[in-house]
This record gives sequence, structure tokens and C-alpha cells, in this order.
Amino acid sequence: MDQPLPQLDSTSPPAAPEAEHAHGVLRDSHERVIHDLRMSITDRCNFRCVYCMEPGDRFLPKRALLSASEYMTIVDAAIALGVRKVRLTGGEPTLYPVLDTIISELGRRNLDDIAMTTNGSLLDPTRTARWKAAGLTRLTFSLDTLREDRMTAITRSKTRVADVLRSIDVAAETGLARSKINVVAMRNFNEDEFADFADLARERDLDIRFIEFMPLDSGRSWKPGRVVSETEIIEMVSARHALQHRDPKNPHSTSRHYYFADGAPGRIGVIPSVTRPFCAACNRLRVTAEGAVRPCLFSNTEWDIRPLLRNGGTHEDIKRFLVDSVWTKQAGHSIGAKDFQQPDRGMSAIGG
Ligand code: SF4
Repeated sequence: MDQPLPQLDSTSPPAAPEAEHAHGVLRDSHERVIHDLRMSITDRCNFRCVYCMEPGDRFLPKRALLSASEYMTIVDAAIALGVRKVRLTGGEPTLYPVLDTIISELGRRNLDDIAMTTNGSLLDPTRTARWKAAGLTRLTFSLDTLREDRMTAITRSKTRVADVLRSIDVAAETGLARSKINVVAMRNFNEDEFADFADLARERDLDIRFIEFMPLDSGRSWKPGRVVSETEIIEMVSARHALQHRDPKNPHSTSRHYYFADGAPGRIGVIPSVTRPFCAACNRLRVTAEGAVRPCLFSNTEWDIRPLLRNGGTHEDIKRFLVDSVWTKQAGHSIGAKDFQQPDRGMSAIGG
């Protein structure tokens, strides 16, 4: 089933109260302030993960995608409004033709953290070292199995687990901050490997984060019964390694942290998006590869910033557009509620 190409609402967001523009920050009507900008720089991917994309999904024409300078125009406005962290996502961002340019441009800005989420299939030491030198802080890898047979079944690609583990080593050897490994936890799929992932965390001092399966798959096969909850995940890991829960220092963290009771290196995290939503402390804003400003991962409303970018919009105009967009941010995702509506876009067209 072809993923419908999203028809962006080219109208500008409704105006936020004038006072919001005077504040000079990105704040929503629920008093949450945005510091973290997630930019999907391409919808293209060399994987077809079963919980994300269908083999027949079509990609956007290149002219629809934002250019590197358009991204930086948005970033400069966001930084002027208090954003301190930028995460590059996709699709698969390492496929983006001018990724080096974007990372070095970000590296020249006043940012506390420049992160990127990757499937780890296309990393090499030279490129990774160049990104680090340009300012990249950390990498987050998506890896849902440690078994080669399942890797092929999940990703529908030729990339092996061994390739991704090699990329994780490259990140460590390059001196990037400790990598995070995101594992989408799916019932009757990979829960028999959760304790193996904990072994990996201990062996390589990694931050393994289990993500509760969210209804963002373009195949729309998500069901509540396929969600493995935080409680279950921790029970499964604890069967092999005793864990101690400690709240993260960062109040906006999406992950709940568990440490090995025997003091072993590594950490276990759970992103309990479905069973313990963390929306009240959300400080994130997203921009998609073709310029849709999405106040929430589960937004069913988004605002197309391209007309402004491509018709002489000034720095102040872009700031105003972002402030107005953030003001429309919904309180949370309402998964499980009667009125919950799965977004038209799949995860690959939003970016994590
Ligand atoms: S669902 Fe939306 S509001 Fe909730 S944490 Fe995610 S982005 Fe934030």
C-alpha cells in the first residue's frame, strides 16, 4: 500500500497571543518551553522496518525537501528562541547528500548538544571522525534484535547486526559521547532478547533504551496488545540482571533509567510512551524533511514553513511562525483514548 504523500496545510499557524512573541521563547499553551529541535533531514531510508515503513512506500520528490540553508534558517530562528539541542533524524540521515555541511553549520552555532539517530548501516571511521570534529556530540542507533535472521526480517535490508555493532564501536572509538541504542519492544517479536541486550549494555558500557511500540507505522498494524510495557520489560531484564531505578537528571528526558545493581557498566532505559506518557514535561518540536512544523510527534495538524522560507521570509518572520506553531502544541498524544487518531504520517516521514 503506497504511503500517501502528505498534503501540507500551507496556511500559517493561527497567531499566538502577542505577549508570547514578546517573551522570546518557544512556549506552548500548557506552559511547556521548547529547547529541543528534531529535524528530519530526509524521508529516504535504506531499511523497511516492519514497525515503520512498507516496502512500497514512496519518497518525496527532491524539490519538496528543504535545503541545507533552509534548515539553518530555521535553526537560527529556533536558537534565538531558546533551542539548545538539535537532533538530526530521517528516514536515515546518513543518506542525506550534504549531511557534513549541516553538521558543520550546526557545529558553528551556539548549541549544547548536536545528536543524530541512525540505523548504523552506513557509518565509517573517517566520516564519523569528521562529524565529531565538526561538532557532533552523540549518536543514537536503532537496533531491535541481536539475531541476524530477525535483523533481515525486521529491517527488510541486507545490513547485518554485526555491521551495526561495528558502527557502535566506531562511535566509541571516535570519542563521541556514550551511544544510546533504541530497541522497539514488540510482543511476540523480540522480548526474548531483552536480557541479551542488557548483556550488550554491560559488555560495551552502552545505554540500551527499550521503546514501547507506538502507533506510528505506515502499515497501520499497531494494536495495544503488541505493546510490551515498561513493567514487563524490566521484569524480563531483571530475570537475568538485578536493576535499580534512578530518575534521570534531565527533567525532560523521555527515558526512565535503570542501573545494574552489581555496579556493572551500562544502563537500561525505557521510553514508556504508551503506558506512562511523559508529555507533561515535553520540550520538543519537530520539523519534517519537507518543512512541516509538527508541535507533537502525534500531531494531526502541522504547518508548512516552506512558503515563508521560499518567499523572502525574514528571521523575525520565521521566529513568529515557530512561536505560533508551538502555541498550537497539544497537551499529549491520547493513545488509547476513544478520540485517538493515528497520524497520517508514518515514523519515517516524521523522524523520531
Ligand atoms: S507525544 Fe507529543 S507531547 Fe507527548 S512527549 Fe511526544 S511529542 Fe511530546
